[in-house]
Amino acid sequence: MNAFRPSRHGSRRPKISFEFFPPKTAEMEVALWESVRRLEPLGPAFVSVTYGAGGSTRERTHATVKRMVEETALKPAAHLTCVSASRDEVDEVIRAYWEAGVRHVVALRGDPAGGLGTVYEPHPQGYHQTSDLVAGLKRIGDFEVTVSAYPEKHPEAASLEADIDALKKKVDAGATRAITQFFFDNDVYFRYLDKVRAAGIDIPILPGIVPVQNFKQTANFARKTGASVPQWLADRFEGLEEDAATRRLVAAAVCAEQALDLIDRGVGDLHFYTMNKADLVYAICHLVGVKPEKMAAQAAAAAE
Ligand code: FAD
Repeated sequence: MNAFRPSRHGSRRPKISFEFFPPKTAEMEVALWESVRRLEPLGPAFVSVTYGAGGSTRERTHATVKRMVEETALKPAAHLTCVSASRDEVDEVIRAYWEAGVRHVVALRGDPAGGLGTVYEPHPQGYHQTSDLVAGLKRIGDFEVTVSAYPEKHPEAASLEADIDALKKKVDAGATRAITQFFFDNDVYFRYLDKVRAAGIDIPILPGIVPVQNFKQTANFARKTGASVPQWLADRFEGLEEDAATRRLVAAAVCAEQALDLIDRGVGDLHFYTMNKADLVYAICHLVGVKPEKMAAQAAAAAE
């Protein structure tokens, strides 16, 4: 990775998108909507809302996405998984999204009901693989379908090649964009991109960028999802366990460095895992040239 410096391609602003998760409590709901309102003026290409198995989380995702459609200028994408539900139940959720005016779904298999690391058991009457879910979505409506991609291989995949074959099946079923699992070493992403392109997959593969709000938590999550945590990253956060203010500054520097390097190397779209916290992501967007007034000026120029 290059040393930190302002992007040489200041004039080439990336397209950005944000991931949020549905709130569990009234307090979290306030935090989510504060973040949504702060990031909305940046004009993201889309925002996505994650999905968990089980009735209450399903309803929370639906309610959040519906409110975004009704009350904001954002184009929301609803995440949807195959976990613990029959095809009929999933199809019902899909139709409810269509009726609510949602036209973009992030289609996923979902994690095993027993948690990460346990064996995935498809529902006997359910969609077994993500490619089946993508096909199911396309049968019901002309949804824009985004899927996941794993630069360091999904932990259950036999090999990176097998994982790329699975991505190809999702694309053949109708997916037109992929978002990657987070990674910290940009070379990993570019090597993966070379392999994906060599396999004949030409859809945009958006790098998923996670601002490290809490290093310990991120490292634990990375271990479970198969994303590697470089020693240099651990070194940067070492000794800051009790120092939240410095940690935030370091997190901003690390994330800025990654985003600017991606842009310098030709990446035009960045997807941020916001964790429902706007500040850090807002600052990174500012650094890469994505600012509210620029968006407004662009819109005005386009309207002339
Ligand atoms: P898949 O593409 O289904 O791949 C999973 C495994 O199955 C891989 O080993 C793959 O190689 C294999 N495979 C897939 N299709 C085939 C096939 N046709 N033939 C043979 N093998 C196949 N989880 C949630 O619960 N809710 C969310 O909102 C959510 N959002 C996410 C967003 C992003 C951007 C990412 C990267 C992940 C997200 N996840 C979410 C996690 C995801 O559900 C898990 O990683 C899950 O274990 C795999 O589902 P998938 O659709 O990502 O992968």
